Amino acid sequence: MTRLLLLLIAALAVAGASVGQAQTPAQAKRIALSFDDVPRGRGAFFTPDERTARLITGLRRAGVRQAAFYVVPGQIGVDDGVGGAERIQAYVAAGHVIADHSFTHRHLNAMSAADYLADVDKAEAWLKGREGRRPWFRYPFLDEGGDDAAKRDAVRTALKARGLRNGYATVDGSDWNMETLTVQAVKSGKKIDMSALRDLYVETMVQAADFADRLSIKTWGRRPAQVIVLHETDLAALFVEDLVRALRTDGWTIVTADEAYGDPIFRLAPDVPSANGTLVELAAWEKGIPEPRWYERNGIKLANRLFAERVLHEPAAAAK
Ligand SMILES: [Zn+2]
Repeated sequence: MTRLLLLLIAALAVAGASVGQAQTPAQAKRIALSFDDVPRGRGAFFTPDERTARLITGLRRAGVRQAAFYVVPGQIGVDDGVGGAERIQAYVAAGHVIADHSFTHRHLNAMSAADYLADVDKAEAWLKGREGRRPWFRYPFLDEGGDDAAKRDAVRTALKARGLRNGYATVDGSDWNMETLTVQAVKSGKKIDMSALRDLYVETMVQAADFADRLSIKTWGRRPAQVIVLHETDLAALFVEDLVRALRTDGWTIVTADEAYGDPIFRLAPDVPSANGTLVELAAWEKGIPEPRWYERNGIKLANRLFAERVLHEPAAAAK
């Protein structure tokens, strides 16, 4: 009896210690996926319909229950946007959610708050009543007005009045640039090393996630849920399953967009000299966390060099 009691006490002590350990800045790493600019222009390999079908299949195979798709309704029915509404509906039918990325995808710093909000409203009018719609707004280019604090605050206040929340991204690996480089390479007849492209894509997005994770711990002393900004690209359609596998291997749990946006960090509205970037970046800046607060491969020069060297096997000198 006494021995049993001692064993019990010992077991409880071990359990207590491991709970304590889990609270030092190391809760599980959690991340949700988001895809911007839907319906996007075509990439190097697929028609827009093929791309959507492959992306849906990839997400399903990867076990991603719910990703967020940020739509730009002004692109629907135009050029590659023909059939865009049906493709958006296909994402929703597959369990994903949709939200506002403005009607015409312009920079807030290049227009008035009133014009900007009219554009948001136009997108909301399209989204209204649609299945899978969430009250989230992702700023195009993650541009919250740059150094114009008055405009920034005017838009923030107006979004709130409309019941919209900032659909922040916290992880950015500039996947759109890799897609552009791929399209350019194919157009100019260059040979693409597809497995090297996959590796570069996956490695870059996982590194971007880990960068945000480390910066989050410095900023908040804990691990919030992260949201990665990806785009509706051929690269996503090709490699999303590989990406999710690599994230899991790296210790990440994939969560739904709903769960991620439930984290209290997504209610923040950092006050920084220039509001443009991921939430983690802005919050770290506001708290005075020293640079770098920006994942280095978001620097286009470095990203382009890596693409030229690793995917095109061009000597470094040939890259810009
Ligand atoms: Zn965008």
